[in-house]
Amino acid sequence: MDTYGIVSGSVGRNGATLARLSDEIWAYAETGFEERRSAAALAAALQAEGFSIERGVAGMETAFVASYGSGSPVVALLGEYDALPSMSQEAARPERRESSPGANGHGCGHNLLGVGSLAAAIAAKDFLEATRTAGTIRYYGCPGEEFGCGKTFMTRAGLFGDVDLALTWHPSDVNAVWQARSLANLSVYFRFEGKASHAAAAPHLGRSALDAVELMNVGANYLREHVVPEARFHYAVTNPGGRAPNVVQAAAESFYYCRAPRLDQAREVYERLCDVARGAALMTGTRMEIAFSQGLSDYVPNLVAGELLQRCMEEAGAPAFDAADRELAGKFRATLTRAEIATAMGQLRATQGPSVVEAIGEDPLDAVIGPLFRGDACLPGSTDVGDVSQVVPTGQLVYASAALGTQAHSWQNAAQAGSPIGHKAMLAAGRALGLAAAEVFLDPGIAERAKAEHAAKVGPYSCPIPDAIGPEDVLKAMRSGNAL
Ligand SMILES: [Zn+2]
Repeated sequence: MDTYGIVSGSVGRNGATLARLSDEIWAYAETGFEERRSAAALAAALQAEGFSIERGVAGMETAFVASYGSGSPVVALLGEYDALPSMSQEAARPERRESSPGANGHGCGHNLLGVGSLAAAIAAKDFLEATRTAGTIRYYGCPGEEFGCGKTFMTRAGLFGDVDLALTWHPSDVNAVWQARSLANLSVYFRFEGKASHAAAAPHLGRSALDAVELMNVGANYLREHVVPEARFHYAVTNPGGRAPNVVQAAAESFYYCRAPRLDQAREVYERLCDVARGAALMTGTRMEIAFSQGLSDYVPNLVAGELLQRCMEEAGAPAFDAADRELAGKFRATLTRAEIATAMGQLRATQGPSVVEAIGEDPLDAVIGPLFRGDACLPGSTDVGDVSQVVPTGQLVYASAALGTQAHSWQNAAQAGSPIGHKAMLAAGRALGLAAAEVFLDPGIAERAKAEHAAKVGPYSCPIPDAIGPEDVLKAMRSGNAL
C-alpha cells in the first residue's frame, strides 16, 4: 500500500473512536494545567497503541510525552487540550445556550487539536510498523496554552533537544498552512503599595497606589509612539485598590502584556515599562513590585516544513463536509455579524488570493485548500508554539472546524468543536500531519533541509521566562483569580 493509503486507512479505521475521544475531552473542558482527565485520556489512547508514556514532564502534572519507534528522524506532534473559562455551550447548537452555567468550554477547539495530532501520531506509528522504516514518532501532550505557557516550560526543560521536526495544527474557519510569524509576549504585574488615609480629612497623610497605577498607564500610553511600530502593549487594572472614594488607596495593581515581533524587542518594551512603573512610584511616594507572569517567544515559520505540509494538505484534502454540515454551518453563520464575515473574507483574500474566495462562493464552510502563503506576515497574537519553533523547525496548519467568520474564543466555536464539522476537520488534520510525518521518515533529507533553514534564521534559545519562575507560579496566579 502507498504511504497515504496507510495513513488515511489508519485515520479512517480509528475515526469513530477519535471522534468519541474528542467529545470526551470537549465535555471535560478543563482549563490550563488542570487538564488531568483530558491528559489521562489522551495518554491512555496512545499507550493502548503501543506508545511508551512519560508523564508529568517539565514539572507539570498534565504534560506528557508519548514515544514510538527508534532512532532518527525524530518527529514531534504537538497536542493541546485546555479549555477556556465561561465558554460552556451546548454542542452543535446554533444559539447561545450554556450546557452548564458559568462553566468552562472549548471555545478554542483544543479538544480537536489534541485528538487531531493524536490521530496523526497513531497513523505515523502504523506507517512505521507496516513499512519497518526507522524513525521515532512522539506526541507531546502540552498543557496550559490559554493563559499559560506549557510549551515554553517544555522547551526550557530541553524536551525538544533531539527532535528533527515538530508539527502541529489549530482548528480555524479556513484550511491553510500557517506561514505567518506571531508576536513575542511578556506579561507582568506591577503592584504598588502606598498608605491609606481619609481622602477628605487627611489626604496629605496618604500615598495613593491607585494614582501610581493611573500615572503608570499615562506614561505607558506616551511610550507607545517611541517603540517599534509593531509593538503592542495593553493593560488591565487587576486591583483598583477598593471601592471607597473616601479612602486613599493603599494597594493597587495593573497587569500588562508587552508584545513585539521579536523577543528582544518585547524585552526592550518590557524594560522601558518597568522604568515607567518606577517613575510612577517615585512620583507618588509609593513602593512598587514587579511580578513577572509569563513569556512566549515569537513563532518562526519554516518554508521547508510549510511546503511539506502544503503537499500533504493537498493530498489529504479538505474536511469531508456533507449537506447536513453545511446546513448547520449556515445556521451558525447567521449568528455572526456582517463585519465578522467581511473580516474573515478579507483575510482570506489577502492570504490565499481572490480565486479561493471565488471558489468558496456562498459555501458557509471552507472546503478549499488554498495556495501556500509565501509572503512575510505577523499575526497580531502570541502562542507558545513560538518557543518550540525557536529550537526546532516547526510546521503548522489550520483546518476549518467552524463556519467561515467564526471567531476564536466564542460560543459558536465551542459549539462547533463538539459537532461533526469539528470532527471532520480533526480527521483531515490527522491525515495531513500523519502523512507529513511519514514523508519525513521516508526522506530524512526533508528534516535536514528544514534544520538548515532553521539554523540560518535563529540564534541560541533564550527562554522568555526567568529561571526563578516555574509552572507552579503560573498556576498559583491563575488560581488566585488574576486573569492571566
Ligand atoms: Zn487555541
